[in-house]
Amino acid sequence: RRWGWSLAGELRQAAARDPGRTAVVDEQGAKLTYGALLDRAERLAKSLRGGLGVHSGDRIGLLCRNHHGLIEAMVATTLLGADAVLVNTGLSPAQLATVAEEQGLKVLVHDAEFAERALGLPADLHRVDEARLEELIAAALPGDLQPPPREGRTIVLTSGTTGAPKGARRPTPHGFGPLVSIIDRIPLRVRDTVLIAAPLFHTWGYAALQVCFALRATIVLHRRFDPSATLGALTAHRCDAMFAVPVMVQRLMEVPPPEPKPPLKVVALSGSALPGGLALRFMDTYGDVLYNLYGSTEVSWASIAGPAELRAAPTTAGRPPHGTRLRILDDEGRPVPAGRVGRIFVGNEMLFEGYTSGTARESRDGLLDTGDLGRVNADGLLFVDGRADDMIVSGGENVFPSEVEDLVARLPQVREVAVIGVPDDEYGQRLAAFLALHPGETLDPEAVREYVRHYLARFSVPRDVVFVKYLPRNATGKVLTRELRRYFG
Ligand code: ATP
Repeated sequence: RRWGWSLAGELRQAAARDPGRTAVVDEQGAKLTYGALLDRAERLAKSLRGGLGVHSGDRIGLLCRNHHGLIEAMVATTLLGADAVLVNTGLSPAQLATVAEEQGLKVLVHDAEFAERALGLPADLHRVDEARLEELIAAALPGDLQPPPREGRTIVLTSGTTGAPKGARRPTPHGFGPLVSIIDRIPLRVRDTVLIAAPLFHTWGYAALQVCFALRATIVLHRRFDPSATLGALTAHRCDAMFAVPVMVQRLMEVPPPEPKPPLKVVALSGSALPGGLALRFMDTYGDVLYNLYGSTEVSWASIAGPAELRAAPTTAGRPPHGTRLRILDDEGRPVPAGRVGRIFVGNEMLFEGYTSGTARESRDGLLDTGDLGRVNADGLLFVDGRADDMIVSGGENVFPSEVEDLVARLPQVREVAVIGVPDDEYGQRLAAFLALHPGETLDPEAVREYVRHYLARFSVPRDVVFVKYLPRNATGKVLTRELRRYFG
């Protein structure tokens, strides 16, 4: 039987080739080898089947922060031919109840801290917290696991920034394609040590885990992201690489850099736009180690910018990797000329296999509509302008929040900024900027407008400038514009 690029298949191979190699290290320094990790996942699978009656085709929800228990539960589920539904830890109790019902969950594996959130779930849904997980692993009966009749799938939930969370089926491509598309462009090596700071329940954290298993890497995990603890761990474990989301890098820049600096080769970011100014400041402090990957739950990674490209064009998302086709198309599906804005379509062997709800996404010639607008310049570099739905039309002119945000973020007083469109009687929509300043800083709204007016067209100037303590963000650091809109009623 051939395994696809599934976690279970990769873990089996890693455990067979390198059983004594450390697979996971946690914040307390506790270590598990590849052999031990596979053994625990297999024991858990046997107990889930024998004790809780989990069978091929069932669905198990996983509501966990980053720790080895989550990995064991992911692998155990797929070993049984069941589907693992990765639940975003930011969901409200009501959203969790909807997800449990829509996905038909039989079991919910959750961290103890989320017990309360699971209170409203149906009584017949088995709940497994960390203590129960250990009991199940300890209680496993001897005997081998037979290969399941079907391959277990992983279902990633979208975070719901643009609506209710949707379940997206991850593909399990066969062969080395996805791995090659990464290591062709990012200098990662077999047996590297990698800190995964991005949440494992998100596509980007999950992808990082797949890459790490394929490389038999040592994975450093912290349950929660803390900038000082992360910097400490990067040095203590001599990490070669870190996988994170852009807002984490922003937080790292807010604490003093340690001396000596961590010996990093790679900091790979994805999940939301990377502000150009932040990219440059980070590389000035930690070296030319930054990689910006554009992608989504639906298309995985679709383009990669390395340090040289970011130095030359700090807001670029780079070029598509080996095996990926990326096209900018107009509304009629025709390619647009270099430099012109259009819709980004992507084709690769990592495209998702559809939403569990059955809703479809538009595709053309095997290329999927990402829902994002962007441009490819004459040098072949991609610039992502943002989601088509977020584009602001003010007085008939199109404005991308990202353009204004990137500019305002360069003001030294500004810690973070988000721009949205709000309804306006005269112009249809007008721009509103939400700014969080660095501690002790002040800024005059008119100074912000004046600064934008100096660089951009009149219609790009935010009429409303609102100061906030921090921006509301989801678990992957994406700004919740829905909440910002509430400010205007
Ligand atoms: P939802 O679909 O509910 O909003 P989500 O926010 O979790 O859920 P993701 O698939 O994680 O969805 O987000 C993907 C989107 O994030 C992309 O379509 C794009 O808009 C944005 N994005 C991701 N990476 C980058 C990047 N490097 N540069 C610019 N934008 C990015």
